[in-house]
Amino acid sequence: LAEQAWAQRHQPAVTRDGHRLEVGANLGDTAATAAAVEAGAEGVGLLRTECVFMGRSRAPDVSQQLAEYQAAFAALKGRPLVARTLDVGGDKPLSWWPAPREDNPFLGVRGIRLCRQQPELLETQLRALLTAAGDQPVRIMFPMVADWAEWRFARELFERVQADIHAPNVQVGMMVEVPSAALHAPQFAKEADFFSIGTNDLTQYTLAADRGNGALAALSDGLHPAVLKLIAMTVDAAHAEGKWVGICGELGSDLQALPLLLGLGVDEVSVSPGRIPMVKARVRECNLARCRALAGRALAARDARAVRALVETSS
Ligand code: PEP
Ligand code: MG
Repeated sequence: LAEQAWAQRHQPAVTRDGHRLEVGANLGDTAATAAAVEAGAEGVGLLRTECVFMGRSRAPDVSQQLAEYQAAFAALKGRPLVARTLDVGGDKPLSWWPAPREDNPFLGVRGIRLCRQQPELLETQLRALLTAAGDQPVRIMFPMVADWAEWRFARELFERVQADIHAPNVQVGMMVEVPSAALHAPQFAKEADFFSIGTNDLTQYTLAADRGNGALAALSDGLHPAVLKLIAMTVDAAHAEGKWVGICGELGSDLQALPLLLGLGVDEVSVSPGRIPMVKARVRECNLARCRALAGRALAARDARAVRALVETSS
């Protein structure tokens, strides 16, 4: 099966009944873009731009960032790139950032909260991203948005930069990785062009289970029906406004999760490049109508174990 999946890696992921799921790559290094395309990526679904900011003694300026982003766009040859703006704090510290010590860094000043304290940092990054894109498709998204004011801050900063640069092929969206963002998706969907669900953090925050704590591995399962419910709410809210939804957390490459994500209406998954051929192969085994029925039953299940048992018995 793995050999066949590899042979068909450049073909789209289409279910038996003709429904296509976009499959992108998660990247933590712009130099890995060409290899991701070679592995079958239809674009970059999550560029963790922290890579551009790490391993330095100070913040990179526009031209330093530009060079990195341009390398990714060049390798993509017109395929879309979803760039997540700087997401430091929590599990992603930066050596040159004098972050205050916090008792609960995962609940602290991280992601967009940090950028709100240093708007010029985000402005520089947006300038570099929009300039690097040229006329290629670029999608910008903001991490850890929990509240409307954070979204407005980010969106307004984007508008200011875009008023200068006029990038012709750009969408602005946000990560949904905090339960409040999923619960409030109908409001965000009016302004956001797309959502990308970060199931790693969404699961952690929904179940109050540290994503890095092995003792809680069984509990922090993204197939928990409570997490699936938040995914369903996010997708429904987005589709009601004609917007698209991706999954960029680890759940997107979980072969048991894929039928459910399809059934819930997810439009795109972004996974680590090595997983792309198998993810596409799994989608080709699925039937969308059956996935929808399965997702309905999963939402009513008691826990993640029950959801996994459901998927196992149905396939
Ligand atoms: C996530 O939280 O699911 C995600 C994709 O972002 P990261 O793993 O970088 O926090
Ligand atoms: Mg995250």
